[in-house]
Amino acid sequence: MTTGYIDSYYSASAPLPAQRDALSGSVETDVAVVGGGFTGLSAALHLSRRGYRVVLLEAERAGWGASGRNGGHVGIGQRRDQAELEALVGEEHARGLWALGLEAVGLVRDLIADHGIDCDLKRGILHVAAKPAHAEELREYCRLLQQRYGYGATRYVDREETRQMLGTGRYHGAQLDRDAAHLHPLKYALGLARAAEKAGATLHEASRVTRIDRAEGLTVHTSGGEVRAKRVVLGCNGYLGGLDKRVAGMIMPINNFILATEPLGGELARELIRDDVAVADTLFVINYWKLSADNRLLFGGGENYTRRFPRDIKAFVRKYLLRVYPQLADTRIDYAWGGTLAVTMSRMPSYGCLDGNVYYAQGFSGHGVPTATLAGALIAEAIDGDRSRFDLFARLPTRRFPGGTYLRWPGLVAGMAWHSLLDKL
Ligand SMILES: Cc1cc2nc3c(=O)[nH]c(=O)nc-3n(C[C@H](O)[C@H](O)[C@H](O)COP(=O)(O)OP(=O)(O)OC[C@H]3O[C@@H](n4cnc5c(N)ncnc54)[C@H](O)[C@@H]3O)c2cc1C
Repeated sequence: MTTGYIDSYYSASAPLPAQRDALSGSVETDVAVVGGGFTGLSAALHLSRRGYRVVLLEAERAGWGASGRNGGHVGIGQRRDQAELEALVGEEHARGLWALGLEAVGLVRDLIADHGIDCDLKRGILHVAAKPAHAEELREYCRLLQQRYGYGATRYVDREETRQMLGTGRYHGAQLDRDAAHLHPLKYALGLARAAEKAGATLHEASRVTRIDRAEGLTVHTSGGEVRAKRVVLGCNGYLGGLDKRVAGMIMPINNFILATEPLGGELARELIRDDVAVADTLFVINYWKLSADNRLLFGGGENYTRRFPRDIKAFVRKYLLRVYPQLADTRIDYAWGGTLAVTMSRMPSYGCLDGNVYYAQGFSGHGVPTATLAGALIAEAIDGDRSRFDLFARLPTRRFPGGTYLRWPGLVAGMAWHSLLDKL
C-alpha cells in the first residue's frame, strides 16, 4: 500500500496516519494556508490558537516536502552569522534577529513538550572546521557570541578533542553548541499536524492549489474545490513552482540528499559520534550527520540544481560519507533520498505580505527546522495585528534572482559550481 510519502528512513520509522480527505466543494474561512510543511503547519496551529478559522491545503501529505526529509538539525541563530548580520543590517537589527533565532529553537522545544510529540529530540550540534582557516573563524565566533551576545552554551573545541568526539582526524577544530538540538523531522511534522487539528484547523491532503483568484476577496482553487478566505498564507518553499511568480522570484529551489546506513551497534555509533550530537561541516556544500534512535548514521552530502535527482542517490551520497568515514566502506546503506529546499540570494529567509492579505515566508536556506517553525508563529502574530517581529525579517534587504522565475538556473548553477570548487581547494 502506498503511504503517499517518499521512501526514506523517516517514513519507514514514523507512525504514518491515514491520508486526510481532499478538499471538495466550496468552503469559507478566515485564513487559507497553502503547504503542509513546518511553515504552513506552524501557521495553522498558531492562527487556530488565536481563534482564527483555518483551512490548510497540502498537495501531497503533511510533512511530505523538505520538512519530512531533512537532516533534523535545529540550529541556534540565523543561517548567516551575527558578524555578517551586523554588517548587513546594523547591530540593533542583528541583535533582534539573534533573539528570534534563540526563540525559534525554544519554540520547537516547547511545541514538542506541550503537544507530547515523540520525535527523538536530543541536544547539541558540533560545527566542524573543514579547513584550518575555518577553525580560526569558529574560535573567533565562539568568542563573539560569548562576549558580545552573552551566549554561554557554545565553546570552541580544539583539533584533538574534535578527533576524539568524531572518530576522524579530518577536521581542524569545532564549535560545540549545547543549546542547539536535533530530531526526527517527519515525526515532528506529523506531531505539528495533529496539534494544528486539535487546535481547530482543518487539514486537507492531496489538495494541490492550482490558482489563487484575487478578484472579489481571495479564492484558492484545487481540482476538487475552492476556499474563500480573508487571508492566504503561502508555505510552499522549494515546491512553490509558479503558483505566485512574485514570490517565486525571491527563491531558488535546490536539491539535497541524505542516506541512512544499517543500524551500526552502540560501540561503532559512539566511535563515530561520541556524544550523540548532530554534526555539520563548514563547506559550502555542507556534509552533515547524526545518529538515529536505532544507531544508524544519517549522513547528508551533495546537492544538485536540476529538476531531477541523481538516479542512484545511495552511490551519490556514499562518496561524501566515505571521505569522512572510510571505515564505513563495508557498511550497508539501507535508505537514500532527496528533498528540495529553497535558498535566497542573502541566505536569510524571505518574508512578505502581498496586497495586504497574502503572507509568505520561504527561503530558509537549509536552516528551516527552527526558522520555518518560527515563521508560522510570526505570520500568525502579523495577521493578528502585530507585524513588528514579522517585519524584522520582511525588512531584510532582499534581491530577486536575476532572470525571473524560469531563467534563474544558469546563473545559480554557475555560482554554485564555483563555490563547490572552492570547497575542494
Ligand atoms: C535534504 C534536506 C536536508 C535539510 N536539512 C536541514 C537541517 O538539518 N536543518 C534545518 O534547519 N533545515 C534543513 N533543511 C531545510 C528545511 O527542511 C526547510 O527549510 C523546511 O522544511 C521548510 O519548510 P516549509 O514548510 O517552508 O517547506 P516544505 O517542508 O518543503 O513544505 C512545503 C509544502 O508545500 C506543499 N505545496 C507546494 N505547492 C503546493 C500547492 N500548490 N498546493 C498545496 N501544497 C503545496 C508541498 O507539497 C510541501 O509539502 C533541509 C532540507 C533538505 C531538502
